[in-house]
Amino acid sequence: MNNITQHIIIIGGGPAGLEAASSLGAAGYKVTVLEKEEQTGGKLRLWYKLFPDFRPSAEVQEYLANGQKMNSPEIITKAEVISITPEIDYQKVILADGQIFTADVVLIATGFQVFNAEKKEEYGYKIYDNVITSVDLEQQLKSGDAVKTVAGEIPQRIAFIHCVGSRDKKVGNIHCSRVCCITGVKQAIEVKEHLPKAEIFNFYMDMRMFGQNFEELYIEAQQKWGITFIRGRVSEIAENIDGTLQLKAEDTLSGRPMKMNFDLVVLLVGMVPAVGTDAIGKSAGLAFTAGNFLASNDTHFNQNETHTPGIFVTGTCREPLSVAETLTDARAATVRIISWLRDKELKSNN
Ligand SMILES: Cc1cc2nc3c(=O)[nH]c(=O)nc-3n(C[C@H](O)[C@H](O)[C@H](O)COP(=O)(O)OP(=O)(O)OC[C@H]3O[C@@H](n4cnc5c(N)ncnc54)[C@H](O)[C@@H]3O)c2cc1C
Ligand code: SF4
Repeated sequence: MNNITQHIIIIGGGPAGLEAASSLGAAGYKVTVLEKEEQTGGKLRLWYKLFPDFRPSAEVQEYLANGQKMNSPEIITKAEVISITPEIDYQKVILADGQIFTADVVLIATGFQVFNAEKKEEYGYKIYDNVITSVDLEQQLKSGDAVKTVAGEIPQRIAFIHCVGSRDKKVGNIHCSRVCCITGVKQAIEVKEHLPKAEIFNFYMDMRMFGQNFEELYIEAQQKWGITFIRGRVSEIAENIDGTLQLKAEDTLSGRPMKMNFDLVVLLVGMVPAVGTDAIGKSAGLAFTAGNFLASNDTHFNQNETHTPGIFVTGTCREPLSVAETLTDARAATVRIISWLRDKELKSNN
């Protein structure tokens, strides 16, 4: 039987943290979720329709909220964790406001933040008004208004640039963010639905269509929606006198340089670990991946347990994942935590 007095703290109330909270709550454990924002839900609150099937993000948020209603974990918002101190038999979790919580197990689910596109100066984000990110475009789509240029005009030609802040040694991120290729396909289709006459080009290094129905959507984007995909590395974006944008790229298939003009450029920004995760990991003696995500103690058999006993990781704080993968990962973490707590209890009873 479970010992109901065993207490688990989950840091982060995004999809990973909430899914783990309801699974652990359903198994009878006392669970506390510490979320630094005023609301839970993580990045789901920013997205409109999700790849690969255009399911409204609100539906997944509703699913997670129902899980909380049924399994009632304690959820504390505006609770930013800054460090964890592992003690011999328990974990001490310290908040930015000085509060201290203790628990048998800590599950870190602090997620990711999007790469700051201003760091790629050559693309002109926040310099040229018609250069936006995939997060900005998602907000426009969510608002229900037509996609427009800053002058309020309907864009005729739109470019999506892949790998912004990912697979890029210059900015120190060699990892692939995994979700931005399919986000580029999804958003290009959504824009085409709104603006059937627009010409849309995606500039990519490689198309990474790893998930269920991703490849199918990529084919549909080309065949049904007429979206053009160019294997090319964009070197620079400059503004023309009329406010349109000139994009310089090398077509990496033909080896030829090219220049094209666009009304709107969308930068597909990648994932980096959420601010503060580095400090939390270091305070708990955790290891990091090359991309500075939190490392697990085995890449094949145990992706959710760390080298520090009693501290587990789940979701995009450990690697870039889609929502479906995040939810699966959270449930896997739950199984690991339950078996770890049972082992601990057995040892203490012997
Ligand atoms: C542009 C873009 C579009 C995407 N679109 C899709 C899509 O269409 N379909 C899809 O499947 N996936 C999509 N994704 C991926 C999806 O957003 C992630 O899979 C999902 O958000 C991961 O959930 P998470 O809980 O790991 O992280 P997050 O969503 O980042 O949640 C982490 C939570 O932890 C909290 N937190 C962080 N630090 C602390 C701290 N120190 N103390 C307390 N709380 C903290 C945060 O406030 C947040 O609430 C997209 C990603 C990007 C970049
Ligand atoms: S998913 Fe695609 S766009 Fe994103 S980093 Fe990987 S290759 Fe680049």
